[in-house]
Amino acid sequence: MTIDTPADVLLIGGGIMGASVARLLRESDPHLSITMLDAGEPIGDVAGVHLHDIADPAVWSLYNTRVSSGIQGMYTGAEVAEETPATLADAAPGMFHTATFGEEASAMPATAIAWNAGGMGVHWTAATPWPAGDEVFGGEDEQWRDDLATAQRLLHATQPAIGPTEIGARVLETLAEIYGDRGPADRGPQAMPMAVSPDGDLLTRTSPATIFPPIAHGGDPAFAMRTGALVTALIVDEGRVTGARVRWSSGEESVFAGRHVIVAADALRTPQLLFASGIRPDALGRYLNEHAFVTARALLDLDRFGITTAELPLAPRGEWCTDSLWLPQNGPAQPFHGQIMDTTYLDESGHPLAHSVGVSLYTPVESRPENRVRFSDDEVDLAGMPRMTIDFAYSAADRALIDRAWEESARIVQLFGDFDPATERALLPPGSSLHITGTVRCGSDDDGTSVCDPSGRVWGIDNLFLAGTGVVPTPVVANATLTGVVTAVRAARAVVEAHVAA
Ligand SMILES: Cc1cc2nc3c(=O)[nH]c(=O)nc-3n(C[C@H](O)[C@H](O)[C@H](O)COP(=O)(O)OP(=O)(O)OC[C@H]3O[C@@H](n4cnc5c(N)ncnc54)[C@H](O)[C@@H]3O)c2cc1C
Repeated sequence: MTIDTPADVLLIGGGIMGASVARLLRESDPHLSITMLDAGEPIGDVAGVHLHDIADPAVWSLYNTRVSSGIQGMYTGAEVAEETPATLADAAPGMFHTATFGEEASAMPATAIAWNAGGMGVHWTAATPWPAGDEVFGGEDEQWRDDLATAQRLLHATQPAIGPTEIGARVLETLAEIYGDRGPADRGPQAMPMAVSPDGDLLTRTSPATIFPPIAHGGDPAFAMRTGALVTALIVDEGRVTGARVRWSSGEESVFAGRHVIVAADALRTPQLLFASGIRPDALGRYLNEHAFVTARALLDLDRFGITTAELPLAPRGEWCTDSLWLPQNGPAQPFHGQIMDTTYLDESGHPLAHSVGVSLYTPVESRPENRVRFSDDEVDLAGMPRMTIDFAYSAADRALIDRAWEESARIVQLFGDFDPATERALLPPGSSLHITGTVRCGSDDDGTSVCDPSGRVWGIDNLFLAGTGVVPTPVVANATLTGVVTAVRAARAVVEAHVAA
């Protein structure tokens, strides 16, 4: 077993959250030594590049075909593995349903993990609506606004991104007639902010490699990226993490050390690693939250909207949808987050046939301690980590709201036409959005309802910080990643302060 030279910062997890922390640490100190450990191997040649933008044409077209369902659980670039591989060595890098990875997840069957370097950040759709109202945590003060703005900068949140086309603008106007006055002026129906950057006539996705390019391209002498490095446990001694045990894909083992340690290993595997390390506060894994997901599609009534098929917009190059639009939640007056993705159906020769308005309504779910991920002392998953069991159910209040969303989705569809017979309407199984929050939530007091303080520092462990959507304590109705990056901003700041003070 080797002991590597301690880094100033040991970062566990090379997804969007880990990359965000690394970027901010580097912005604050060009010499800080950072070692990033990621359990996965790259898909393709380099770590952290989004599959939408990967050079390999086979991967590119696979991703772009699969994303067109518009539903997270279905549109992963590397196909979601349906069968459990015989051994970890047989698991090709990509997305796995948690059940396929050996967890007990029947209560949240659609949830998945990324077993690849760069995590879900190489698969994601990149919608970045900003949180408001009950989604905000720790107070909507100047600090919140600054941290949110930093998160938007890191993700390169861009608005508008895809559309609105002329017909997309009509969709927004129609929605505004009903929802326009349900919240503040900046939270009416509008284009969906997305984490993208224009590159000629293409839109590239923000990924770990764009947030912190040394992850993919090197060139930073004080940064080391290690892939295939599964951290199996943190070694804790007298209230400090003194090392991280790593098992390589080869099966060999090492111990890494860092003065400050940050775990950004996603909302399911961050608590798993803490559990495996004997760090087991009462709130660990509890308050698991994911908004419910009602999805529907309207076939646009062209006569009603006075347009011909020839006038229908085509999706921009490299995209499957013509418009990516947003109906923001506005508390009790408008509790649902609407993600609206429109597309024009083409015939075999590429001529427009029809236009569909895809309406997904995300519905808030109460944060309750009984919704949780538990870990086994005896059983292990495919990676040899403590096996997860997910307990998740909707409360009576959640069900009432889901029923409302169901009715509301029909009402919205009828604004535009009839249900698209190809997809109709569905309440998707829990886990479908992959917007999991709360499992290592932060709080202002160590009162048993939180795992870490508002900066992400784990209660009782001086040099251990957490970042990611699991840290978010509030029920998030919208896509959760931007909100999660706020926790990365806070953890990075706390580590910089701790480093300067040491
Ligand atoms: C297809 C798809 C579409 C999505 N669309 C959106 C969207 O439009 N908007 C939105 O807000 N969100 C979306 N999401 C969710 C979003 O991608 C995630 O919220 C975000 O990427 C999570 O980032 P993360 O860094 O916390 O976790 P991850 O991306 O999962 O990264 C965690 C990393 O930690 C590593 N790791 C885990 N355990 C260990 C360990 N023990 N040792 C070492 N390394 C470890 C993993 O290998 C992984 O690389 C989508 C997700 C998918 C899959």
